[in-house]
Order: sequence, then structure tokens, then C-alpha cells
Amino acid sequence: MALTPDEARAFHDEIHVMDLHADTAKLMDKLGYDLAARHERPMPKLANVFGHVDLPRLRDGGVAGQFFSFWTTPYPERGCTKSVVKQLDALDVAMAKNPSDLAWTRTGADVRAAKAQRKIAALGGIEGGQALEGTLDAIEPFARRGVRYLGLLHFSANAIGRPAKGRGADPDAGLTAFGRDVVRECERCGVIVDLAHINRRGFFDALEVGSLPPMVSHTGVLGVHEHWRNIDDEQIRAVANRQGCIGIIFSRKYLGSASIESVVDHILHVIAVAGEDVPALGSDFDGFVVPPEGLEDVGAMPNLTVALSRRGVTPRVLEKILGGNVLRVLDAVPAWGTLRA
Ligand SMILES: [Zn+2]
Repeated sequence: MALTPDEARAFHDEIHVMDLHADTAKLMDKLGYDLAARHERPMPKLANVFGHVDLPRLRDGGVAGQFFSFWTTPYPERGCTKSVVKQLDALDVAMAKNPSDLAWTRTGADVRAAKAQRKIAALGGIEGGQALEGTLDAIEPFARRGVRYLGLLHFSANAIGRPAKGRGADPDAGLTAFGRDVVRECERCGVIVDLAHINRRGFFDALEVGSLPPMVSHTGVLGVHEHWRNIDDEQIRAVANRQGCIGIIFSRKYLGSASIESVVDHILHVIAVAGEDVPALGSDFDGFVVPPEGLEDVGAMPNLTVALSRRGVTPRVLEKILGGNVLRVLDAVPAWGTLRA
């Protein structure tokens, strides 16, 4: 039975809605973007590539947990570690200023506790392994600060491997020896391996080296729309076989349409290929994406719940797609500080 917008919003209060990928911390660091202030909804069409996320609109959307992804410009490679630290610092400042609204979280239990205290749960991830500047020793300090995932690649080749497309792309080159060590060290430190942006060969190399659940934090799927940035059915099944999750991106370019129905199409394709325990949300808000109509910012999130319910997704499966699958992966990859002695 289809939910009304009000029913969808009320449903969000009962569950834990999680988004795997937003680039807001870069805006906070570079532009002084105030996470606590309500911003105008960005203009439709081309002008709305950022300004999608703030605390008032996270509340409007009934979002329990937001992953903030820290991205860096890889040329020159030096400076990338510091750039991530600055984005972490910017988030810490926002948290210190808004202690009753925002909580730093690492685990499923943390997210649930934050929601019980009416706080938005913030989680951290890194986009692009150039943030390590070629050293394994960079991973543990990031894990100590709460970073929960590392996207191995972004738009250019780095010491770990090759991107799906961009500078240094090479479909025949997989993970480097260093890249394999990075996967092992991530798992030792409780950092989930994120396979967004990596080329297909590196994708499977990383799965072969690791043993814990991976994620693809923000992507579309080739079964719905042919695009180099999207992953194929074999990749979807490989993530499912390792109990990982896949966040569907809210970008018209990768979805293949400006309709909110296309987000539903990508999610339903993941379910058809690999089951209901795999799909998640990976908006890429504030990451220079143009979201579909009806999903203009994070406050519009209940519209997606309505659209999914119209297509026959039951509340039990909605709960998994909207955040339950992410919480399961967080629980399955123990965070630094909660690791066994
Ligand atoms: Zn990205």
C-alpha cells in the first residue's frame, strides 16, 4: 500500500534512515558553510550542485544518520592527508557548536543512541585513497578519529589502483601490492572498504583480499543505465556474497533520468539481482550532482519513501533500504575503539 508523504515522514521517525555519502564537510571547511543554519533549497537544474544538506533539512527528511565523505584533490598528492584532517576538524567544530543536535557516531549502537537523544548521527568516510599519501600508517589515525570507510579510488589513479574513468584509468590494471595492504589494514582498523569509483578489475581484487563486508557508498547500476560510473550485476552479486551494501546515488547523470522513479528503478534492480539486504542510499549530495526532481535536497527524502512504497516495497523492506542494511554493515565491521583487545 502506498504511503502518503506524511505517513512516510512518520515512518522515518520509527526507523533509522541513513545516507552513505554527502560532501558537505568540504563546504564547511572551504566556504564556512554553517551546517546548523537552514539554507535555501538549491535552484533546480544546473545550479543545484551543492547546498543540499544542513541540520534543519536533515530533520525535515527524517534522516537519522549522515555519512560525511571527505574528498581531496589528488594533484599534487601531498596535502591530501591534511585536507581530510581539515574536513574532520570542520565537522568537529560543528559538533562542538551544536552538541544537542549532532553527535559523532561509529557504530549501529551509536546511531540508535543518537536518535534516542534526538540528535543527528554524523559518520565519516574518505573518498579517494590518495588521502593516505602512500603510507599505510595513515589509516589507523583516521580510524581513531572515527573514519568508518575508505573509498579506495576517486577520479584519478593513486598508489592503490586505477579509477573506473579519469586520469590514469586502465581497465587492465588492478590493485597494486600497496592497495592490497591497504585493504588488509583497513579491515584491521575497522575501516570499511568502499568500492565506489574503482575500476572493475580493482573492484574484484579488493574483494579477493578482504574478508569483511564492503560497501559501494554511491553508485548507479548498469542494469538500469549504461554509464561508466555504474556497476554491473556481477559486481552487485559479489558485494552481496560478502554481506555488503550498495548506496544508490541521486545524480541524474548516473541514474539516466531526472525522475525520482529512476532512483527506485536502480534500487529495485539491486534487489532483483542480489536481494533486499543489499540496497542503501548514497545520495552524493553536495558532490556536484544534480538530483532528480522531487529529491532536490535531503529534506525531500520522504518523497523517495513514498515512491518506493508506490512500487510495492513493503515497510519491512523499506526499513532495510533506507538504513537497516547500513546499520548491519556497521555492526559487522567493528569500529576502532570497539575492536576486540
Ligand atoms: Zn564520488
